Amino acid sequence: MFKKILVANRGEIACRVIKTAKRMGIGTVAVYSDADKNAVHVQMADEAIHIGANAASESYLVIDKIIDACRQTGAEAVHPGYGFLSENALFTKALDEAGIVFVGPGKRAIEVMGDKIQSKKFATDSGVSTVPGFLDVIKDADDAVKISKQVGYPVMIKASAGGGGKGMRVAFNDNEAREGFELATSEARNSFGDERCFVEKFIVDPRHIEIQVLGDTHGNVIYLGERECSIQRRNQKVIEEAPSSFLDEETRRKMGEQSVELAKAVDYCSAGTVEFIVDKNRNFYFLEMNTRLQVEHPVTELVTGVDLVEQMFRIAAGEKLSIRQSDVQLNGWAIESRLYAEDPYRNFLPSTGRLVRYVPPLEQTIDGCTIRNDTGVQEGSEISIYYDPMIAKLCTHGPDRATAIELMSDALDQFVVDGIQHNIPFLSALMQHPRWISGDISTAFIADEYPDGFVPVQADGIVISKLSCVALSMEMLRKDRLDSLAGRLSRHSGQYRSNWIVKLDHQSVTANILEREPGTPVEMLVSIDGADPINVESSWVPGEMLWSGQIDDELVSVQVRSITGGVSLRYRGVAMNVRVLSPEHAKLHDLMPERTIPDTSNLLLCPMPGLVVSIAVKAGQSVQAGEALATVEAMKMENVLRAEKDLVVLEVKVKPGDSLAVDAVIMDFVV
Ligand code: ADP
Ligand code: ADP
Ligand code: MG
Repeated sequence: MFKKILVANRGEIACRVIKTAKRMGIGTVAVYSDADKNAVHVQMADEAIHIGANAASESYLVIDKIIDACRQTGAEAVHPGYGFLSENALFTKALDEAGIVFVGPGKRAIEVMGDKIQSKKFATDSGVSTVPGFLDVIKDADDAVKISKQVGYPVMIKASAGGGGKGMRVAFNDNEAREGFELATSEARNSFGDERCFVEKFIVDPRHIEIQVLGDTHGNVIYLGERECSIQRRNQKVIEEAPSSFLDEETRRKMGEQSVELAKAVDYCSAGTVEFIVDKNRNFYFLEMNTRLQVEHPVTELVTGVDLVEQMFRIAAGEKLSIRQSDVQLNGWAIESRLYAEDPYRNFLPSTGRLVRYVPPLEQTIDGCTIRNDTGVQEGSEISIYYDPMIAKLCTHGPDRATAIELMSDALDQFVVDGIQHNIPFLSALMQHPRWISGDISTAFIADEYPDGFVPVQADGIVISKLSCVALSMEMLRKDRLDSLAGRLSRHSGQYRSNWIVKLDHQSVTANILEREPGTPVEMLVSIDGADPINVESSWVPGEMLWSGQIDDELVSVQVRSITGGVSLRYRGVAMNVRVLSPEHAKLHDLMPERTIPDTSNLLLCPMPGLVVSIAVKAGQSVQAGEALATVEAMKMENVLRAEKDLVVLEVKVKPGDSLAVDAVIMDFVV
């Protein structure tokens, strides 16, 4: 086995690889850019080498710098993680020439599978069923129309060099084929420097199901079951699970065996993934092979008990696979949620800044239930604009799917993230969605169920009661504190108001405190709207962002943030502003005119105090959602402000060099 390896990556996957290397007694070397000087992966590794400036093209993507770092530290092998140089044949060639082992497949597998046209031809020849289509480069828009007609609408126009859901467009008619070709081509040129596109049949409402394979350098290849990744937003995975709720034993075996055949045909020797889409009748079609460790590999590890990174190291060191196909067993159910620094309430715009609070749920295994959190950040870390906005992969594993979902719902409720916007509210809402729970999903799930963007879950009566109890317990503690500050507690000890009105957004309930022990831990018996008493116990103390406790024997975790005169609570995809008021106060509260929130949707406001670096648009210019409008520097960081929707710029109110307060108007628009 290697004595020392280098991880040519950053973030959660670098940490993940280092963890296994440490367990195996292998020395570890991290590499880092300027922005990652204090990153977790740098702290975890035995040694760390600085490889350049923030932009990946000046650091993590520079082959010579990685090889130099190996030479400097004596690392014998390189694990590439995913992304960056992980599927770069030139990198493996350069390592080979330098006498350094690449922890991944051979150059041929990377070359053949790195190109979608070539890999589909190869798969077809190896007896794998592929998506029907025309496997040659489209010449121009007219050609795109002609070929699309031949293939038969709907079609998908795809970049051959594509990845990460980029460079693909669906077309239902000639016009869309023409337009889709132009868009896919330019996206491919910009993202991959390779504009070749092809046409394949668009499979309507499919599932994305992929097979994990492992091959060694002695010709042994096995498959470790499947992962289903149908919950996608814009062709990018959001939630993954293993096994799939859709496959029967026979389809699983057929997909597994075809994947093994394909892997053998390219002498595959590492961990790899064969991706398929599966239609309603369980017909499956090859999409592509990813010749690397996949983001969602932990769900496979949880159901098979195999450490894929360990296997990759052993294979790279020339060992024979010690697992046979008949040893592979799928136990229980695992789910992964990808936590992103993006704002679900604002069209999933990336969010950058400092993680002021970051407290993930405890990683543990109790009674066959596991919580695992793969992350590359910690409290105080900076989420920058330079790299992927994924901050963690939260995984749960339980005996069955329903348990894994319940564990995930709870773990998401417990996850404290503050300082940046994140998608936990969205993930929580997904976990509560009846269609997700039933397993009746497809890759169109998010587009179908959230056609106008993310909306939080509607609270039912049970959730209203729970949240009322939580707010009441907190408000009673606050009152205790105020009373004791005023010296009132000693004088009127034991005398408490028992009748309260709880306002939850626009609903209100009456709450009667039937019994209560003052102070912490909270212990009280409450009746909501005259219903049966609810027992509430919690050791929450004022200031904590997570309220955890028992509500009638059920363990409940609720996220708490202060707002004026109340609290904002988040639980199981529900988000509500809650105020506890005396009945008299509530009556007055009802008389207060509703404060209308000024409409700022046609303004670009400065999100933080900062300095205008540049303005990317002019008055009168039309912009599309996602395009850059202005760059503002704050805390030595450049923040690109983007359009949230398609609009036309009316007037730009500031100029480069201006220093702005938070919420200063940068420009206004007409829609
Ligand atoms: P990438 O390299 O970006 O991962 P893939 O070819 O793996 O591209 O496709 C990504 C996703 O796009 C798939 O998971 C699926 O949801 C969707 N997709 C791709 N091809 C098709 C198709 N022919 N029909 C329907 N959906 C497709
Ligand atoms: P500060 O944050 O300055 O200490 P307060 O003492 O007013 O402000 O509030 C302490 C906590 O109690 C805050 O989290 C606030 O959101 C919450 N709170 C204040 N008023 C109410 C109310 N009527 N109902 C429920 N919670 C409240
Ligand atoms: Mg893919």
